[in-house]
Amino acid sequence: MKDILYAPWRDEYVTNKKIDGCVFCHISSSQNSDDDELYVLHRDEHCFMVMNRYPYTPGHFMIIPHLHTDKLEDLSSDTWLHMSALAQKSVRLLKEGFGAHGINIGMNLGKAGGAGIAEHIHMHIVPRWDRDTNFITSISQNRVYSTDFIKIYEKIKSLIPEYI
Ligand SMILES: [Zn+2]
Repeated sequence: MKDILYAPWRDEYVTNKKIDGCVFCHISSSQNSDDDELYVLHRDEHCFMVMNRYPYTPGHFMIIPHLHTDKLEDLSSDTWLHMSALAQKSVRLLKEGFGAHGINIGMNLGKAGGAGIAEHIHMHIVPRWDRDTNFITSISQNRVYSTDFIKIYEKIKSLIPEYI
């Protein structure tokens, strides 16, 4: 339970394919036409947004800079401010469009900070609902393969033009 309170997301990843090297760089450099397969929600010049394949809650996604770095302090101010702006818009999207009651936002920096993919920093955006803890305990043990995951991706992606 302590783990959940202090790091309320599973920091693992992401795709069915075996990928050599950094999985986030793989997504960053992939074609827009692969976005549905990779569950990408949004791309722009600074960063991209992608669903977490091991969601802590349904709708858990990440905001990730294109720059491959393990150091938050190496990001340009422009990129960091842009990510912060996207996080703010994401909160509105999840509350108004997806019915979330609350949100967790956070970054695990470094292995000691709990990062599963420490070499490429990423910001977690985790929608929360009142009394969702039991539900979370049960789903967080299992990778979500189901069509629900795809439906949730499609739902959030459909909200992107309005909110992001
Ligand atoms: Zn990378």
